[in-house]
Amino acid sequence: MPAKTVPVFDGHNDTLTKIRHGGPDAQRSFLERSELGHLDLPRAREGGLAGGFFAIFTSSPNYERVVGPLLGPDGEVVPGGRSIQLPPQLDRDIATSWTLSVMSDLFRLEAESEGEIEVVRTVADLRRCIAEGTFAVILHIEGAESIDENLEALDVFYEAGLRSLGPVWSRPTIFGHGVPFDFPRSPDTGPGLTSVGHRLVERCNELGILIDLSHLNEKGFWDVSGLSSAPLVATHSAAWALSQTPRNLTDEQLAAVGKSGGVVGINHATGFLRWDGDGSGKVATPLTEIVRHARYVADLIGIDHIALGSDFDGATIPDDMGDVTGLPRLIEAFRSAGFEEKEIEQVAYRNWLRVLEETWRD
Ligand SMILES: [Zn+2]
Repeated sequence: MPAKTVPVFDGHNDTLTKIRHGGPDAQRSFLERSELGHLDLPRAREGGLAGGFFAIFTSSPNYERVVGPLLGPDGEVVPGGRSIQLPPQLDRDIATSWTLSVMSDLFRLEAESEGEIEVVRTVADLRRCIAEGTFAVILHIEGAESIDENLEALDVFYEAGLRSLGPVWSRPTIFGHGVPFDFPRSPDTGPGLTSVGHRLVERCNELGILIDLSHLNEKGFWDVSGLSSAPLVATHSAAWALSQTPRNLTDEQLAAVGKSGGVVGINHATGFLRWDGDGSGKVATPLTEIVRHARYVADLIGIDHIALGSDFDGATIPDDMGDVTGLPRLIEAFRSAGFEEKEIEQVAYRNWLRVLEETWRD
């Protein structure tokens, strides 16, 4: 008997940004099958992806990602380490203009799909989409640079359909500070939320917008943990104990996520999975690394708190995953590792449904 197909709902992709961003991906349509990138609708159907969080991310203009040596506390070079300079705070006009453009791309795509794709605003929408096979999109903004200190834009974006927000990508915002991509390094890399950041958390709670902790530094994480009435969520991170990038969560942070009833979408980025943090794609990384992190988190805080957060179109993922069509192989790897069918369904989509039910207003 062939193994049962499990629908997967995914915590993070950068597909909208990638398609709009120029370069070869700008030539592709989400509705048509492509060999570029990790995700489009035909490949999502083939892989059993029922939908996911679609991020809008604004790049910093003229930013060049330069990798340098990592220096220890006394200025000594850490062997095998690396440091990447983050861009400075982004101008709000640039972020607003880009965010509106990508948001419009999404709504036009929804219309053009003639019912194949739906931007979901309620858990009832999401459940119906999964049941009917309509591809469900949660509108997420990664890095709140397009939101003003009076949070007026937040209200407007919410009305448009925003249901998930990262107060920071890794560069600083008026709300808080993100983690750099240094390796190895603790996520405790700077100050916590600003006073406007506190108000942002409160307003997200009031509106029922999920707050994504994935790029926030550790002090910011604890600030949200102390303030927020919603379950704690990292949409695309993994376990720091297994891969010491500040983008991952320490055991203490994972425990807090578990205690709050939240969830961690296990990232598929090789740089966040591997013990040596190698995200270059030059060394083979098996997709079982994703399962290894899931097992670690499950043993620590329970199966209720694990989901998937692929980072499709935003990171180098394991070769044997390839793209979204590799999802059945990932599900099979969970089976081979001894996860039961009920647990696999939880990881694949049911934990997301529970957390969204507790976070959104309706
Ligand atoms: Zn990210």
